[in-house]
Amino acid sequence: MSTESATSKLVAFQSDKFAQLAEPALDPAPGHQTVIVTCMDCRIDPYQMFGLEVGQVHILRNAGGLVTDDVVRSITLSQRELGTREVLVVQHTKCGLHGLDDEAFLADLVSETGTEPGWPVGGFSDPFERVTASVKTLVACTFLPHRHAIKGYVFDIDSGRLHPVE
Ligand SMILES: [Zn+2]
Repeated sequence: MSTESATSKLVAFQSDKFAQLAEPALDPAPGHQTVIVTCMDCRIDPYQMFGLEVGQVHILRNAGGLVTDDVVRSITLSQRELGTREVLVVQHTKCGLHGLDDEAFLADLVSETGTEPGWPVGGFSDPFERVTASVKTLVACTFLPHRHAIKGYVFDIDSGRLHPVE
């Protein structure tokens, strides 16, 4: 690692190519009318995985690719204000949250900071079960006007395959 911060390099890269990044003609409503919910895992590139281009989907990412209150908020806004109709939930094998002990994590966090977070940690033992639960949550969510096409998959980090979750 060099002494220059990673974020400084990222911003310098951006300022070199800003003209290529301007998208004045694109609509904020995603062309594919789709939301993808996935993990923040640095090995997952949804654009490459699904052959996507800028302007086609909303991508919501967090630790674990979990359907949190904020993900529900974003999908609700996406469907009601920006015309999306379908949702793809993609979690993956070898996730950092796989096997995480929520209670131990919380105990350390609270003992170190003296503050209880207002959010669940979200550790899980089986990504397939986790995706099933996430899809179920969204299908039951009456805030969403479009719940007929909510699909779940587990991405296998080792093989690159996407496994459907029923
Ligand atoms: Zn993950």
